Amino acid sequence: MSNCAIVGINWGDEGKGRMVDLLTQNYDVVVRYQGGGNAGHTVMNEQGKFALHLLPSGIFRQGVVNILGNGVAVDCESLWTEMQDVIAKGVPVTPENLKISDRASLLLPWHRELDSLEEQRLADKKYGSTKQGIAPFYSDKYQKKTVMAGELLYPEKLWEHLEGILEWKNLTLEKVYGATPYTMDSLRAWVADFGEKIKPFICDTGAFLRAAQAGGKKILFEAQLGSLRDLDYGIYPYTTSSNAIAAYAPVGSGLPSAKIDEIVGVVKAYSSCVGEGPFTCEWFGEKADRLREAGSEYGAKTGRPRRVGPIDLVATRYGVECQGATNIALTKLDVLSYMDEIPVCARYELNGEQTDRFPFPAVLPEARPVEITMPGWKCDISGVRKWEDLPEAARNYVEYIEKSIGCRIGYVSVGPEREAIILR
Ligand code: GDP
Repeated sequence: MSNCAIVGINWGDEGKGRMVDLLTQNYDVVVRYQGGGNAGHTVMNEQGKFALHLLPSGIFRQGVVNILGNGVAVDCESLWTEMQDVIAKGVPVTPENLKISDRASLLLPWHRELDSLEEQRLADKKYGSTKQGIAPFYSDKYQKKTVMAGELLYPEKLWEHLEGILEWKNLTLEKVYGATPYTMDSLRAWVADFGEKIKPFICDTGAFLRAAQAGGKKILFEAQLGSLRDLDYGIYPYTTSSNAIAAYAPVGSGLPSAKIDEIVGVVKAYSSCVGEGPFTCEWFGEKADRLREAGSEYGAKTGRPRRVGPIDLVATRYGVECQGATNIALTKLDVLSYMDEIPVCARYELNGEQTDRFPFPAVLPEARPVEITMPGWKCDISGVRKWEDLPEAARNYVEYIEKSIGCRIGYVSVGPEREAIILR
């Protein structure tokens, strides 16, 4: 049976959550394979409107098993709060439909604090972190200075391990940042408050996935953030601290032998970017405000206004290549309906020359957008459900993007609701 990954092609917030929510009807298992509570996937369905940060977007489908894989930063505190929010709206979350990898590392209380302290130290050179502790978490993970979720099941070993890490971490907190040290008592209280709550959900998810694969179950891998925020392939250092690309899904999910048959890349019909870093196609002033309002471009986690601009074909083509996308979901086409003409960032100008290639991060800030325009359609398309019912100008826009980025666009969404989608 085929497996599928749903990934973001650009800077994130492309609408991955809504695509996972839609496509989970064809899958048995949904796995988050990297990242933590720093992004927000918005899902609107008959159960309500949800901003998911850590929970996989398959949580709304009965019979779907959702997994937080070993590559995820498990923040017990945020996860527990999110679970309570979802449960309060009538969505069941039980050890049957949510499983946390025993090999996933735990985001510890000091990670969030260190994130804020470092952004403060950087002042006007800050990375624009969401301050959820993700960068300190992943650096500690790779330094082997955090604990695995499964250690919660072995308290004696957990305390011994945490004691060693605490001693090391307090050196940084006190000597580098002048912050208050943590104590074992504070850690024990934190484990009692939050670690205990997620304990029933922790298991060997690798074994579960292997059995699911052997039993012919269909697995969907859900990315967090987009290609351009990938640690290795993105706009470093304005990236996240893990790998968002589809190639990482087998490793971060706990099924390293998995073959991914379909990679659905989610692209927004225009561009948005939250936080710092070069964003070549960026618009400013009234033009940007209008697009931001039309697309409600405010961060799901932080409420920060997102930076916006026209679709960036250079960055999108690069994102498609990094992901190895086999199919594209183009979202929020309805948002462009107010425009007389639709601007497109078709190329970049760098060192006096026009280029189609996405530049190396260090020189990216020098790139300038080369815009062209396409005719607009100027009518409400949010009720359209068939390709042939879209105005010709809208079809031309989609086909032009498809040709420019070199990948088939199989889905076009025209509204946030689950059914507001055109299958081509
Ligand atoms: P994700 O992190 O990639 O899942 O994306 P976000 O949830 O941060 O942002 C996508 C936003 O756009 C959410 O508020 C969605 O409800 C909304 N959205 C998704 N698809 C469409 C669409 O086709 N049209 C409109 N108007 N909104 C959409």
